[in-house]
Amino acid sequence: MAAPMDLANLHPRLIAGDRAALARAITLVESRRPDHQAAAQALLEQVMPRTGRAQRVGITGVPGAGKSTTIESLGCNLTAAGHRVAVLAVDPSSGRHGGSILGDKTRMERLAGDPNAYIRPSPSGGALGGVARKTREAMLLCEAAGFDVIIVETVGVGQSETVVAEMVDIFLVLLIPGGGDELQGIKKGLIEIADLIVINKADSDPKLAERSASHYRAALHILTPASPDWTPPVLTASGLLGQGLDKLWSTVERHREVMTANGERLARRAEQDARWMWAMVHERLDAALRAHPEVADLAPQLERQVRAGRLPASAAADRLLKAFGL
Ligand code: GDP
Repeated sequence: MAAPMDLANLHPRLIAGDRAALARAITLVESRRPDHQAAAQALLEQVMPRTGRAQRVGITGVPGAGKSTTIESLGCNLTAAGHRVAVLAVDPSSGRHGGSILGDKTRMERLAGDPNAYIRPSPSGGALGGVARKTREAMLLCEAAGFDVIIVETVGVGQSETVVAEMVDIFLVLLIPGGGDELQGIKKGLIEIADLIVINKADSDPKLAERSASHYRAALHILTPASPDWTPPVLTASGLLGQGLDKLWSTVERHREVMTANGERLARRAEQDARWMWAMVHERLDAALRAHPEVADLAPQLERQVRAGRLPASAAADRLLKAFGL
């Protein structure tokens, strides 16, 4: 019988690349129990030196764009080439209505059965900030477990694309041929944060796919690129037939080389980590403020008065912060 996985042997098993230990560690990170939270934080500190080595890739696209199909084909190519691939998801809608748009294991059966792959559905429920924190910590655990490619998938719900773009090295937007921006539900700003655009389903109508690619190349041309060394390329591919995926991956690698050489890769990660720290500080301060008994007592009546126009918002804010001790 396998030894029970207590917290003491979780660390050695995790860094040995054991997927069951990885799953258990991510469950700890996702747990709300204070003792689990403390154990998760201790584990994260312990594994810190082993993190940061993976290529972190974000992928977004509307439902049906072909994310899971493409990730599965790409993931299988990568494991065949000797990589270890983890697929994580950020889906703030997951668990709220019993369903989730993403991260459903059954969608990537071939990859899920691959011993060199690990697929984890989105942490369920809660605000986007909380889901993002758990995913980011899961990413670090995957790196500690020796996964050298981490794919973080999201559908554009709320701000989830921005949140994912802020935790990865390269952000990929998957589109389908034709259909104007409105039809594809492309939000203003999405193209601005893309490092790479892929027109998927090019097999269904190669000419239309090429036309769409030209459309986005022209659109990108008038934007100022985030890096002077990188104009986001627009590729065509078929996730279903596996076409264009070698080019896609060689582009991801080229991005890594260029960004490593010019120092932007490290700078981007440093910026992400610093922002991350402040986001957590804000999150915890907000929770502490709302949990404070005097604040909780005062807040409803003050908010009523502000809403009724009887009290300036600034005065109400002052009183709440004073009640909190500021
Ligand atoms: P997701 O919602 O973005 O994860 O999209 P899926 O990967 O589930 O794909 C949605 C549908 O599009 C499925 O029926 C896929 O078989 C199909 N599909 C995905 N990629 C391609 C492609 O490259 N070509 C074609 N013809 N169909 C595709």
